[in-house]
Amino acid sequence: MTRQQAPGRSPRPVAAGRAASRRRETIRRIRMNALCLAACLVAVLAAPARAQHARANNEVLTLLSRAEAVQLGNPQEALSLARRAVTVADRAGAQALVRRAEAAVCEITADIDPQAALPLAEDGEQASRAVGDMRGVARFLGCQGYALERLGKSHEAALVHENAVAAAERASDKAALADALAMRGESRHYHGRYDEAIADLDRAYALNRDLGRKAGQQYALNAIANVYSDTNVAEFDKAIGYYRQLLKDNEAAGQRSEVATMLFNIATANVQKGRLDEALPDFRRAMAIDLELGNTAGVAESERSIGLVLAKQGRPEDALPLMDSAIARYRAAGSDESVARVRISRAGILQALGRPRDALADLAIAERYFHDRNNPRLLAQVYESQADLHAEAGDWRKAYDALKAYRTTQELLEARAREEQGSRLRVQFDTAKKEQENRELLIENAHRGEALRNAERMRALQRLTILLGTALVVLLAAMAILQVRRGFHLRRLAMTDELTGMPNRRSILERLEREVAALRDGRALAVVAFDVDHFKRINDVHGHHGGDRVLRSIADIIGRALPANARLGRMGGEEFLIVLPACGADAAFALAERLRALVAEARFDGFAADERVTISLGVSEGLPGDDVEALLRRADAALYRAKGDGRDRAVRS
Ligand code: GH3
Ligand code: MG
Ligand code: MG
Repeated sequence: MTRQQAPGRSPRPVAAGRAASRRRETIRRIRMNALCLAACLVAVLAAPARAQHARANNEVLTLLSRAEAVQLGNPQEALSLARRAVTVADRAGAQALVRRAEAAVCEITADIDPQAALPLAEDGEQASRAVGDMRGVARFLGCQGYALERLGKSHEAALVHENAVAAAERASDKAALADALAMRGESRHYHGRYDEAIADLDRAYALNRDLGRKAGQQYALNAIANVYSDTNVAEFDKAIGYYRQLLKDNEAAGQRSEVATMLFNIATANVQKGRLDEALPDFRRAMAIDLELGNTAGVAESERSIGLVLAKQGRPEDALPLMDSAIARYRAAGSDESVARVRISRAGILQALGRPRDALADLAIAERYFHDRNNPRLLAQVYESQADLHAEAGDWRKAYDALKAYRTTQELLEARAREEQGSRLRVQFDTAKKEQENRELLIENAHRGEALRNAERMRALQRLTILLGTALVVLLAAMAILQVRRGFHLRRLAMTDELTGMPNRRSILERLEREVAALRDGRALAVVAFDVDHFKRINDVHGHHGGDRVLRSIADIIGRALPANARLGRMGGEEFLIVLPACGADAAFALAERLRALVAEARFDGFAADERVTISLGVSEGLPGDDVEALLRRADAALYRAKGDGRDRAVRS
């Protein structure tokens, strides 16, 4: 009881067959809704300059929806409408719309001439891929898969559907994935992989629900119901339950064409359950709606189904006119394949009516058609009916030949089934491989991401380390510099007299030590020791601070007057020592005299105009073999003498 049989196609359950004919229609509607929404948005937002573009959009969408409306009844008309849509979109320069219209051309062509659809599908897929339009890729792969199925290359078709799903998954395009899964689900159903089919269709349903694509959801649900309605699954009541739900939705939405499909599918499921009386009114309602909508093929399909029910009910005379009408309608719609298919059914009815000759004439036409299209499954049906008819007529020779042809064809079918099984295994393997590749790709991407993140973390860490290292080096350097400075400072403090800022006793003696050592090399050296006269008195008159000021002033006066290589140091209290390297006794004495005069003539802050400060100086020359002590002793002795001689004078040792 098959209804729509594509050349070279295994028999598909009636319900699925009907759905298959509607399948592309539904998918088109899903896309059409999205396109309509986009077109509306464009229309609302478009600036005047873009109005022309929006008009072109609307024109394309109108052409495509007209093509969709007439596709079942008049595929040639649908094709020319879709081609016009391509031209309009192309003229408007809307590439996405061109691809959309080209996909429609591909789908309609797949119905008329599947072989011709293949290059269209390939070109479209490549063009979509080139611009990263993954929904386009999935759509053209869908067209390719459908065309291959129609050409009987079902295993190739299955592979194409796998690719479509993989493409959509890779692109993470949920809408494309939903469409591809729906197509693959139907392909898997067609190949008898029922549980896998349900899994795909469930996913497609859930994705469409998440995306708010009502039509896509309905499409997936219908496909799920088709699986349940399959004679091998035989969950007819479950299927009818889904169909009824969809029927209600479509009635509420005023989608009459879909209402007809659901009524037809419910009726078919009832026929399969043996509820013939229940089926008839639904077939009739479907037919009435299709008649109203001008869906010629839909009307013909219902007529054929009703005819078969009537024949089963033992009413071949009522069935025959329906078959005749169905043939006329299919012929008008240009569907030769359907005509040939109805002829097989009509032959059975003619046989029941006792018209074997007419029955054989119908079968001969069908035989020629399916032989030329290489469709062994339907040929087998033809041969079986022929054998039956010849046997009934007592023509045993012809009956035998028909039976032999039947057996040969059956063997061919079995061989194909075996090949199909092998292909299925290959597809399963390829699928597993593809899924593995996808997984690997995902893992690789994840790893690459992780590696990038690690490298980034590493770089950040390195930057931080370098920063901290630099900071540490700077800190250490600063500390070292501070330390050195502090060392210098401490040393300076240790070597400097706090009050006058001159070298202190230790410092000047160290210097003297070095110079005394140089005496051995024959270098001249002289020292001048001096002491402030009556300093106790100064302190008494001007206070300790006043005394300090005097000490600072004297150090300043003497320091300025000394030659560059000379050194002045404070030995303690109001006693000072001058070291004069490379200086003989005469020069030293002359200098001492000059220094004495400078101090004696100097004016001191807070001192009365006639108040003077004087110093007494003892000059001593370094002698070979001298040490510091000896040299200083002589200088001190000279100073002592200066004091004794009345102060304010220089005495040489
Ligand atoms: P003479 O001429 O014999 O050297 O008499 P004089 O008073 O200078 O000698 P004396 O050694 O008896 O006194 C030195 C005084 O210098 C004693 C001390 O109080 C004072 N003196 C020592 N160191 C300092 C100092 O750093 N500042 C001040 N203001 N006075 C000091
Ligand atoms: Mg003194
Ligand atoms: Mg003194």
